[in-house]
Amino acid sequence: MLALAAVLAVLPLVPAQAQAPAKPMVCGAVSADDVQEIFSFLLYNSGYDSSPADQRPWGKPSRGATTGIFTSDEKSFRAFGGSPAAAFAANTGINNKGAMAAASHVYIHIPSMCDINQNRGEAAFFLAHELSHLVLHHPEMIEKNNLDSMTKWCESNDCDGDPKRIVASWERATREARNAFQRDIEQQADREARQWITTLTDPATGKIFSAEAGEAGLKSAEEWLKAKGETLDDPTHGSLASRVQVLAQDREQMAKSHTDGLKGKAEAIQQKVGNGF
Ligand SMILES: [Zn+2]
Repeated sequence: MLALAAVLAVLPLVPAQAQAPAKPMVCGAVSADDVQEIFSFLLYNSGYDSSPADQRPWGKPSRGATTGIFTSDEKSFRAFGGSPAAAFAANTGINNKGAMAAASHVYIHIPSMCDINQNRGEAAFFLAHELSHLVLHHPEMIEKNNLDSMTKWCESNDCDGDPKRIVASWERATREARNAFQRDIEQQADREARQWITTLTDPATGKIFSAEAGEAGLKSAEEWLKAKGETLDDPTHGSLASRVQVLAQDREQMAKSHTDGLKGKAEAIQQKVGNGF
């Protein structure tokens, strides 16, 4: 989930305040402490806060420290569109106090993270997905896409009248194209998250996070939502099932390239030493 912040129109319903739960929460396989610890581990490994200012797109000023904001508030979860977490970048969009956010945050809804995830790898995938949005500058890309879209739209439409009316017309006319742009970005965050966590050793288990954790986490989320009588199928993300499918195809492709690579190496050896090796 990307709590975007479409520059011209969409007001993301980011909660005004969110605190870590006062009492340890009783969770399933993954505790509230696990979620917080995994987030800190991923944030540290992302190096996001240390990226030099000149690598920031469009000359944005400093983002300030990136933080995880842990919330138990059901309203926050609703504001994330039913996703257990949402990323919000500094200087993009407007928060619910009507101000630009000074720093980047990942909002994490602890109860749903606890309920959904069946192991630490699944939690790592969801958190890595959100951090990937920030690391890959997705909020800024969407913001820029919106500006470009409106610039183009103003070439053939009257953009001198009431701004609210202009934005409403532009939104209607360009909704599908903008959703498609964001769906690509969501797929990129899923792929990046999966690839990234499989390079990291979980400090709690000493094992590398599983390459299947992403698919498993998305399936767990779907089952959890189904049990609640809900579905998550918004036009900017696609269904959870479709995201599972993209990751599964990607993994098969990666496995095939790996096997093909090994086959190539074996053939090269065979050519050098002959068939009798
Ligand atoms: Zn997302």
